[in-house]
Amino acid sequence: MSTIVERFNKIKSNINASKPEKNVNIIAVSKTFPLNHIQPLIDYGHNHYGENKVQEAFNKWSDIKKENSKIKLHMIGKLQSNKAKSAVEVFDYIHSLDNQKLADVLAKSQNNLNKSLKYFIQVNIGNELQKSGIPVNELDAFYSYCTQEINLKILGLMVIPPNNSHTKKYFKSVNELNASLELDDLSMGMSADYMDAINYGATFIRVGSLIFGSRS
Ligand SMILES: *Cc1c(COP(=O)(O)O)cnc(C)c1O
Repeated sequence: MSTIVERFNKIKSNINASKPEKNVNIIAVSKTFPLNHIQPLIDYGHNHYGENKVQEAFNKWSDIKKENSKIKLHMIGKLQSNKAKSAVEVFDYIHSLDNQKLADVLAKSQNNLNKSLKYFIQVNIGNELQKSGIPVNELDAFYSYCTQEINLKILGLMVIPPNNSHTKKYFKSVNELNASLELDDLSMGMSADYMDAINYGATFIRVGSLIFGSRS
């Protein structure tokens, strides 16, 4: 069995071998894992981690972030607006910006705390009823609102494609939407499909189980 650092480096070398046009950032998705399991990768010097629950992120990362300002935390899970204020305190990036009410609370909270987070707008590319994300036909208006009315720093789009065999098609569509908004970054790709995502221009991939092992 290989170690966490070896598995992480294997992903890095796979990425480098594909010679991506842009720099690809690996977000090591550490949700559900305790800090002692994650520590080898922190000690190795990796700085980007992903969590999907505000409280869990707080408990796990508050102290370590005070000691190490290089650590950047990414919120990748559904964010309720009543947790937005706490999210702004602990996270550096939010990948799940998906409605106006949430955007308003985030903008107000970061102004109050004198912070400026980086955001991805989550897109519901498959128009799935049960999935969060901005519908494609509302994306332009929502993007304008976030950037022009409330001054959120939007890096790009984020997608969790439908769970079927058409992942590449969805990656391609999101890449085109991202380009139409002239955005530089794109958050897509997980353990099973990160290489496909990179082929379609992902600059932030969110990889959990392939690094840390399966979650119970
Ligand atoms: C859990 C999660 C991941 C990581 O999934 P793996 O398959 O373990 O790599 C990526 N993105 C989101 C939004 C997640 O919730």
